[in-house]
Amino acid sequence: MNEKVFILYDNHGNMDTVSLNEGEAMAEPDIYFYDISAVVVFVFLLLSILIRRQMHGPANRVFLSAVILAALTAAAGLGGDLYDALLSPLLSHLGAGTQSYPTLLRSSVQLLYFTLHTLTAPAYLVLISAISDTSHRLNNSNLARALLWAPMIVATVFVMLNPVHHLVYTYDATGTHRGPLIGVIYASAIYYSLIGIWWLLRWRHVMSEDEFSTLMLLYPLIFMAVYIQFHFPHLRVEMFFTAIGLLMVSTFVLRPEYQLDSLVAAASLNAYHDLCHRCFATGKPLCLVYLEILDIDKLRELLGADELHSLVAGVSSRLSEQLSRGDVLYYLRNGLFCIVPNNPDADRALGIAQRTHDQHKARDAKSHPGRLSLVRIRSCVVRAPEDVSSPEELAIFVRRLSHLVPDSRATTYEALSRQPDFALNMALPSLLERAIRERSFQIYYQPIYCVTTGRFATAEALVRLQDPDFGWVPPSLFIPEAEQSGAIVQVGSILLDKICAFLGESDLDALGLDYVEVNLSVDQCIRPQLAGELLDLVERHNVNPARINLEITETSSAFSQEAIEANVRTLADAGMTFSLDDYGTGYSNVTRALRLPFSLVKFDKSFADALDDPSAHEVLERSIRMMASIGKHVLIEGVETAEQAAELTSMGVDYIQGYYYARPMPEEDFVKFLRAQ
Ligand code: C2E
Ligand code: CA
Ligand code: CA
Repeated sequence: MNEKVFILYDNHGNMDTVSLNEGEAMAEPDIYFYDISAVVVFVFLLLSILIRRQMHGPANRVFLSAVILAALTAAAGLGGDLYDALLSPLLSHLGAGTQSYPTLLRSSVQLLYFTLHTLTAPAYLVLISAISDTSHRLNNSNLARALLWAPMIVATVFVMLNPVHHLVYTYDATGTHRGPLIGVIYASAIYYSLIGIWWLLRWRHVMSEDEFSTLMLLYPLIFMAVYIQFHFPHLRVEMFFTAIGLLMVSTFVLRPEYQLDSLVAAASLNAYHDLCHRCFATGKPLCLVYLEILDIDKLRELLGADELHSLVAGVSSRLSEQLSRGDVLYYLRNGLFCIVPNNPDADRALGIAQRTHDQHKARDAKSHPGRLSLVRIRSCVVRAPEDVSSPEELAIFVRRLSHLVPDSRATTYEALSRQPDFALNMALPSLLERAIRERSFQIYYQPIYCVTTGRFATAEALVRLQDPDFGWVPPSLFIPEAEQSGAIVQVGSILLDKICAFLGESDLDALGLDYVEVNLSVDQCIRPQLAGELLDLVERHNVNPARINLEITETSSAFSQEAIEANVRTLADAGMTFSLDDYGTGYSNVTRALRLPFSLVKFDKSFADALDDPSAHEVLERSIRMMASIGKHVLIEGVETAEQAAELTSMGVDYIQGYYYARPMPEEDFVKFLRAQ
């Protein structure tokens, strides 16, 4: 075998060579086998990156550079081999002779190979730090920067000057030979490998098991390849093993299917969570620009799920146009995007927030063709760690985003935090948690006036919460928060328990009370356990189910309708009645009102407020008549004045609820109120 050694020169110059034997050399294809395979894998990787447009964000961009670097290295190695094996014999055959060997081209390729090779280990270190979001820690002082990059620069320059000093390798017709200072390349590779291994161990806690082990595995893989190639120079496996290693990094670490949103061309919620987690853990400063599509639920109702999806995709691609190199656009959920600019520069971030906000403000249909003209957004910049100090705190803010961020202009967390209710909003999750733990919710009852009998025959149970630190917290704040966090199920069962306890203890007939209206959130209604639990409660407290009327607000989601209907059927069989709450606010509509066995339709306060407007008056009058014609009782909410009450009475409503008649009041007051009537 060794006679054919002119093509057996090792990429590292490890090989001493013997004679040149053209004919046999050409018959030695296994030399290129691994390098060709490596190039194939690199091309595959590059294509997959391009097709998936996986180029945003530091980790993806460094990965792309690493793949290009490795591909060029493999190509240079392969190119050199092919030249030696095919072109060179041909040239000497044509009379060029071995004297002119090496040609300028051949030695350039050889130099390129060695230079790129020197950069490989540092590049992998950069990749590790980008993937773990720790580049800022790696480069955190001038000394660190010098210690880190000076050896690479020295080694690379030294290798590049080889044509002058010939100390790293020499090259002649018999192949490549090690120079006396070939060790520079090895020393540099070992230096960067040791730093890489140390860095991986140091930041292991910010990575998943898969990420850590895959990134770590590359080192033994490459060491093994170098060892094999050192001892069996014709097994040119190093670049092939590198290719396999990078393929593993792509599959198990960068995981395009995990990092990219499958519906919208943006990075995924998973990627966003990982980023937040890592940046807080490593202290990496971040600027986040949150962009939320307004009234996404209304848009969904208007357009349907598919149309909405393409609308969101359209917004996503328009937002991508705002990005500069290195910025990343994430799609988080339900119309909420986040842009993370490459540099944590608050002014630039606010610039992006303002631009995108204004861009979605103009009502000019020409500049926003089609459905995109429907989209308005709210935008807000958050800095970490200046504004928020943990991923949890950030998550609370993001959950409260639609309540806290005005839609009139782009704003910043800093500006919002100076507003009076901000602290309360941010404290909602913890104060809710405490209220649930201590079951400190109270139930107030608002008597409802029955127009036909002239008595207060029913009432609505309304939750109240007094927090030790913040005082009275309005349900309009904590109920939506509980709904978003899922705590509403627990809150709901505490409230139901308290209401049933009250009903069980009271002599309702003596008080002249027919039933109490109880609010249910959609998330409660869609739980299959609801009916069973509620029936247990009424039994335990010895309450007649007919004393409970459940108020249900409509959802826009059709899929939950079935679960709601099942609950309603069971509970209705047990004797409970139902009201359609907030009729006229957008989601409640006639088809739904007909589908479930509602005995009562509660018209939203906006109807009472608009009585002065003749057309609204007309709509209300017709709606009341229509409801009456299908056998529904009608209740108007939020009546505050005698005029409104008189007007509505003349229009033929059945019930009136409002401050004009009675405010919500604690149990004892409520009982006194009823006794007094
Ligand atoms: P809602 O179900 O529409 O309740 C009626 C709201 O209107 C109550 O506000 C009530 O205090 C208020 N209200 C009644 N009459 C008048 C009036 O004349 N003028 C004005 N301005 N307001 C009036 P509250 O108690 O603040 O509750 C707000 C919302 O919180 C409720 O709206 C309901 O969606 C939710 N909520 C309240 N209690 C519960 C509960 O026990 N469970 C659930 N799931 N949600 C509840
Ligand atoms: Ca209600
Ligand atoms: Ca209502």
